Amino acid sequence: MTFETLGLSPALLRALAESGYTAPTPIQAQAIPLVLAGHDLLGGAQTGTGKTAAFGLPLLQRLSKLTPAKGPRKPRALVLVPTRELAVQVADSLKTYGRHLRLNVTMLFGGVGMQPQIENLRRGVDILVACPGRLLDHMQSGHAKLDAVEVLVLDEADRMLDMGFLPSMKRILARVPAQRQTLLFSATFEARIKALALEFMRDPQQVQVAANNTIAETIVHRAHPVDASRKRDMLVEILATRHTEQVLVFGKTKHGCNRLAEQLEKAGLPAVAIHGNKSQAQRQKALDAFKAGRARILVATDVAARGLDIPNLPLVINHDLPMVAEDYVHRIGRTGRNGASGEALSLVSADEAGLLRQIQRMLKADIAMEEMPGYAPSQPIRLDGPMPAQNRGGGARKPGGGARPPRKPAQRGHGKPQDRGAHAHAGPRQRGAGKPGGQGGGRRERQA
Ligand code: AMP
Repeated sequence: MTFETLGLSPALLRALAESGYTAPTPIQAQAIPLVLAGHDLLGGAQTGTGKTAAFGLPLLQRLSKLTPAKGPRKPRALVLVPTRELAVQVADSLKTYGRHLRLNVTMLFGGVGMQPQIENLRRGVDILVACPGRLLDHMQSGHAKLDAVEVLVLDEADRMLDMGFLPSMKRILARVPAQRQTLLFSATFEARIKALALEFMRDPQQVQVAANNTIAETIVHRAHPVDASRKRDMLVEILATRHTEQVLVFGKTKHGCNRLAEQLEKAGLPAVAIHGNKSQAQRQKALDAFKAGRARILVATDVAARGLDIPNLPLVINHDLPMVAEDYVHRIGRTGRNGASGEALSLVSADEAGLLRQIQRMLKADIAMEEMPGYAPSQPIRLDGPMPAQNRGGGARKPGGGARPPRKPAQRGHGKPQDRGAHAHAGPRQRGAGKPGGQGGGRRERQA
């Protein structure tokens, strides 16, 4: 399979060759012909699978066919993304793939001033890559107009729902023309994603690929039982005594991550934190410091770390276990890549025993519990009790939890073309019918 056989234009093929891409990834091979043919698409794929090009290339091809009108242009494509980091990555990719086309890509996200974004909108936009909250602000002030949108992409739709964006998404979708092509990408096709597809898509084709951040077999998983009040001391000791290389540390909350980074700094361990309370400039600065090796330790929440292009790391530490077992896979996907060895170390307090059990069920493997000298927990951590009934607020996507059989991370996608169109068919058209505030039961507060 080559990009040529997928029917892409010479300008795109040139840009791909310049990027060093030799062959399409599985999601690209499946999705590009369907999107070029004008279908709505439900794509089961995560960051790292090449999904951006899977929707980006046909989108660019479609927009480049018609010469845009002279003067300031209204966006003809809208890509909604959950985080600023993903907005930057998607916009960068679109600019790279479209470098031989004359299309303008503009980003809208919070945490930075409104005025430069207003000026960009005034200058004219072909493709708008936006986080829902900031886009709504610009719509309300009349600067962002969506009545010319022909292609709508909902990227990482599951994350947008996780982050409570459903009401905002519905308000935005109500302003996008019903006559459009809609592409939705999500890591899973759980019920709430299918509901979204049913409401906002037209007879979508379905493609799905295995997550490439399934857990590598080269990773060693270990856990230290510890009292919650002593986790920070334990982390300092681990980082100070055992490892010299760069480490990614996951915390539960924004404040917790800040405090952790401060405490590590005080202990002489250069650390930076990234989370949603920081400005875009602060987050980028922290990430750059980590990537350049100036900071040895990056402390992050799940949402902030999502989609970040972080190099392979020898060690990932869970200061807190993730609330959702699947997030363990995302976290640990930062280590053990390409056959390298990696270590995933979790500090587990008694209240997290249920979460650890869910992770073990998802991995279909036990995680070795090793007491660290001097940190014996005041109460034993039991891993043989009943599973917690629910730990996800809305109850969607419960890997290994409740009555559903556990899923192995590697089983999340099948990449079979026969998946296409098999499940999500649209039913009655209801585009734009969503009421603001119509949040379903799936809401769960996430710390970004
Ligand atoms: P994405 O899943 O879109 O975030 O892409 C993950 C990474 O794969 C990005 O760094 C892309 O530049 C890269 N990539 C995407 N498609 C290809 C391809 N066909 N060949 C090589 N690299 C690719």
